[in-house]
Amino acid sequence: MQTHILGYPRIGSNRELKKACEQYWAGKTSLQELLEVGKTIRKQNWKLQQEAGIDLIPTNDFSFYDQVLDLTLSVGAIPSRYQDIASKESSTELDLYFAMARGYQKEGLDITAMEMTKWFDTNYHYIVPEFQKDQKFKLFSNKIVNEFIEAKEEGINAKPVIIGLVTYLLLGKEKEEGFNKLDLTQNLLPVYTEILKELENNGAEWIQFDEPFLALDLDQKAKEVYPNVYTELAQQFPNLKFLITTYFDGLKDNLSLATTLPVDALHIDLVRAPEQLDEVINAIPETLILSLGVVDGRNIWKNDFSQSLVSIKKAIAALGPERVFIAPSCSLLHTPFDLDLEKNEKILSPEIKQWMAFAKQKVSEIVLLKKLASENPDYNTLQELAENKKAIENRKVSTLIHNKDVKSRIELTTENDAQRNSPFNARKEAQQRALELPLFPTTTIGSFPQTKEVRSWRAQFKKGDLTAEEYDQLLKEETQRTINWQEEIGIDVLVHGEFERNDMVEYFGEQLAGFAFTQNGWVQSYGSRCVKPPVIFGDVHRPQPMTVYWSQYAQSLTKKWVKGMLTGPVTILQWSFVRDDQPRSLTCKQIALAIRDEVSDLEKAGIRIIQIDEPAIREGLPLRKAEWQNYLQWAVEAFRISASGVEDATQIHTHMCYSEFNDIIHNIADMDADVITIECSRSQMELLNAFADFKYPNEIGPGVYDIHSPRVPSKEEMVELLKKAQAVIPAEQLWVNPDCGLKTRHWDETEKALIAMVAASKEVAAAY
Ligand code: GLN
Ligand code: ZN
Repeated sequence: MQTHILGYPRIGSNRELKKACEQYWAGKTSLQELLEVGKTIRKQNWKLQQEAGIDLIPTNDFSFYDQVLDLTLSVGAIPSRYQDIASKESSTELDLYFAMARGYQKEGLDITAMEMTKWFDTNYHYIVPEFQKDQKFKLFSNKIVNEFIEAKEEGINAKPVIIGLVTYLLLGKEKEEGFNKLDLTQNLLPVYTEILKELENNGAEWIQFDEPFLALDLDQKAKEVYPNVYTELAQQFPNLKFLITTYFDGLKDNLSLATTLPVDALHIDLVRAPEQLDEVINAIPETLILSLGVVDGRNIWKNDFSQSLVSIKKAIAALGPERVFIAPSCSLLHTPFDLDLEKNEKILSPEIKQWMAFAKQKVSEIVLLKKLASENPDYNTLQELAENKKAIENRKVSTLIHNKDVKSRIELTTENDAQRNSPFNARKEAQQRALELPLFPTTTIGSFPQTKEVRSWRAQFKKGDLTAEEYDQLLKEETQRTINWQEEIGIDVLVHGEFERNDMVEYFGEQLAGFAFTQNGWVQSYGSRCVKPPVIFGDVHRPQPMTVYWSQYAQSLTKKWVKGMLTGPVTILQWSFVRDDQPRSLTCKQIALAIRDEVSDLEKAGIRIIQIDEPAIREGLPLRKAEWQNYLQWAVEAFRISASGVEDATQIHTHMCYSEFNDIIHNIADMDADVITIECSRSQMELLNAFADFKYPNEIGPGVYDIHSPRVPSKEEMVELLKKAQAVIPAEQLWVNPDCGLKTRHWDETEKALIAMVAASKEVAAAY
């Protein structure tokens, strides 16, 4: 039996890497200093695993930005637009690398960054490889081998982690027509071979190839490429041992494909797909080692040792201990660094903390599981098991988690609660009468610029340098200015500006029961950017109104309608660490009921237009298509529960950015929001086609300008976009708005852009 991990977080226990990168980008530190920080983090990570007793320690899981980009550089898949940088005397490999990640605007050059997208269903974003039809590869960076040698100098015979060739190609994007990225296999194989040769020459024994696509839906071509690639590598390297890792789902229909690859070990995710263990045990050939991913690499809960031991012992009984590895389900990249750093009991109470484990604790769990699974665990180990049982038991029955009222309310929730009183047509009439809005009504998505001042007030308030009254007063003044200004320039549906919010999920989490927060629970999102997701640990309910105060205040300042602003249940769920002791769908329903109460209270307070943001609905889609409908069913239902407690005349909006709608338009329509605002400007209204083809009946606000850039759009270009929209969607269904919230923009850009937007709406409306 051996223990290993698939990868460790590299941002540093106190986000040292983030800070070092940002200092380097700002020109404040030298390359040498940055490299030093990287080296220290690697060393600390290895040492930590070594001391914990991990048998196979990974290397090349470190990255200055992203592991996919690392490989892109290693295999020399450098898009031609970076040629000037690559060939410049003065620029280093790392400069080129950061230019690819972040773009380059210096010395008369203006080169765009490579695209970024989500890593499977995580909130980690990778840099998408770009492939040309005749794409050539050549060994460009020696990072993989260098880090292996570096570990060796620390006395570790490491297991280099390399993204598998097939997965790497599948992660990329074809930048021209007329070829399939998998056609590049034969071009790429020689570079893999070269790297493996170097590793072998330096004494490597095990190589980990990450092939998560083996746990996804694969087309015929990919199914054919897999055995070819690994047969060829196995033939060339009879002395290297290959470990193929799969994660984020089960092998399912790829079971025989994965188990018959000519490799030495196969890793499976038993957290996401525990049911696959029996099948896999039955299917694997006699020579294959099975790596059991039993510790959750995607969440922050303590492992249930007794439960994991059932799987481990089953595998040992069937395969023998020498054919069993114990590991986390996936790389620990997706968990925060170290729970021991959570020292402030006011932020994270000890009672909740005892149920949790971060990356460092998960490493210990793996080692303990191995000891527990061995013949004669010693006294201390058994003591640990007893403590683990106690914590698990205590969590199961804790009154902090379980709330009778929430559970009985869930019981009493029926289909009716997910149903507005009348169908859309009737609601539309009632809303027209009550709201009296013009054609092409203008609105914004909610937030207005979070200026330095606004953020500094919050920081001062948190530190105690501002009293609650002073802070409140400052926010009120900012809100009032914003309301007055919107009124002045003639926006139809105003917003209060969201100045009181730090983040659209955290703000609600802080006010809902069942949520906890951490001080240092950072997880890498992309590059140097980290997020600190809230932890949903218990039954969720809303002890008191959350947004009524601000919406009511804003509405009191104007005769125009002010839109109430909420985050939807699916988005709150999606952007948090979620409890694992009940289905996600149930947690989502609890949040939905809390939001529903807020919607009702807003209505009672005289707010007649309420927006429930759901930007994360699409990203919550399961990796396997067969599971989409089930997810969409409960996700849409949760939204409907949150939105359906109001009168016909109250208008419910939703907002979704970063989404494509083609394959889920049915479900989007099923959400039955009276108005949906979407991101559309960057695609030149192309996203609207899905709505047009479907004959989407409700109202829709396609974003008419891109808020992600400081550029101020002209009235004319917005008129053009609106005309395009009008060509496919009837005018009486259309709204006019930016494509997302304005919190990252400056006031001067915002003012100019919104004035032009109002003018554009008036011009288009004048034709009616
Ligand atoms: N109401 C939020 C805002 O305006 C919506 C943010 C989002 O969609 N990501 O900031
Ligand atoms: Zn948005």
